[in-house]
Amino acid sequence: MAERLRNLAIIAHVDHGKTTLVDQMLVQGGAFRANEAHAERAMDSNDQERERGITILAKCTSIHWGDDWRLNIVDTPGHADFGGEVERILGMVDGCVLLVDASEGVMPQTKFVLSKALNRGLRPMVVLNKVDRASADPDKALNEIFELFLALGASDEQADFPILYASGKEGWAKTDMTGENKDLTPLFELIVRHVPDPQPIQKKDEPFAFLVTMIDSDPFLGRILTGRVEAGRVKVGDPVRALSREGKEIEKGRLTKLLSFRGLKRVPVESAEAGDIIAIAGLVETTVADTIGSPDLAAPIPSTPIDPPTLAIT
Ligand code: GDP
Repeated sequence: MAERLRNLAIIAHVDHGKTTLVDQMLVQGGAFRANEAHAERAMDSNDQERERGITILAKCTSIHWGDDWRLNIVDTPGHADFGGEVERILGMVDGCVLLVDASEGVMPQTKFVLSKALNRGLRPMVVLNKVDRASADPDKALNEIFELFLALGASDEQADFPILYASGKEGWAKTDMTGENKDLTPLFELIVRHVPDPQPIQKKDEPFAFLVTMIDSDPFLGRILTGRVEAGRVKVGDPVRALSREGKEIEKGRLTKLLSFRGLKRVPVESAEAGDIIAIAGLVETTVADTIGSPDLAAPIPSTPIDPPTLAIT
């Protein structure tokens, strides 16, 4: 059976447990051996990029679950607002998990990222995390979260969010505080049920179009552009055209490499289609917020403006 896909973000205040939860999902998802999943902490490669002075890049971790599910989980910057970056990253996903430490409750970054997610029209799932701690007060945290949704102008649909109680550290989630602590199955089940399908059938037959959301470079492949295939299909060697946000042609070229995500790694693939988040190489001038498409691409995909970086709000 073909692989089924969900694209989501986990949004949280720093230290509320994103990395730990994604690590546990990698282990329990089953496709990757535990030692491989543990070799490198999920999403921590940002620290190296910070040291090298490169822009902080959101990473995509791809988790296998069940027989045929693949979950692309994109990271959003945790410490600061890198002007417009959070919006662009949230533009790649169809859903999000709002992760809140049940002892600390709502914190500044919780507000910031939730407001962006709600503006994007996403319907968050709320995960109250660290409920294993003696100091956890999930009811209080939940009240704060509900108040925050209202304060941020959430729609009725958004405010009617599903809730899980979890310990990322111990690797379990449950729908009810009185339930048994088992594993993360309730979280996986909620994600595949609640996050919309990213691959509407008709989109696959349209001409190829891809919005560049992140840029980084690789010593062997050169410029790597990560984003979501918004329409159509693409394969290695295809001729493409890149347009700026204003619709100006930036360059023409051929895609020399397509990379998909598996676990914490990028792996080469032959082709990709509407809905998937991939990285591509082969273009030299194209950058964030540009659109890459088939040679007859007429107009760019609308994207969020790039604001200058602002300081952390914490
Ligand atoms: P991130 O900044 O959101 O990625 O947070 P981390 O995953 O790095 O976690 C921050 C700290 O909280 C670490 O010391 C974790 O061990 C701890 N932590 C994460 N999840 C849990 C949890 O479910 N229960 C408890 N008690 N501690 C946790």
